[in-house]
Amino acid sequence: MTRIHTDQAPFVGDVEELGLLDRCDRCGAQAKVRVTLASTLELLFCGNHYHKHAEAIRPDVVAIRDERDWAVEERPQAKEGAS
Ligand SMILES: [Zn+2]
Repeated sequence: MTRIHTDQAPFVGDVEELGLLDRCDRCGAQAKVRVTLASTLELLFCGNHYHKHAEAIRPDVVAIRDERDWAVEERPQAKEGAS
């Protein structure tokens, strides 16, 4: 039972946009980075947690949507990183 995925290897930017309802998987803050892993698992991170985990997940990442720039502008007082 072999499944062949022909739609593998999306590139940076080829990831669904982040919305206000997308929350960091770690702390629940507004997500600013959406990461798709090789397993097709999707992870959402706030800026802080993306920073923390970027190194660890990098080998498995196939696509990233990084919206930290505008998100930081929109949420200047975001409380993040309280873990
Ligand atoms: Zn977070």
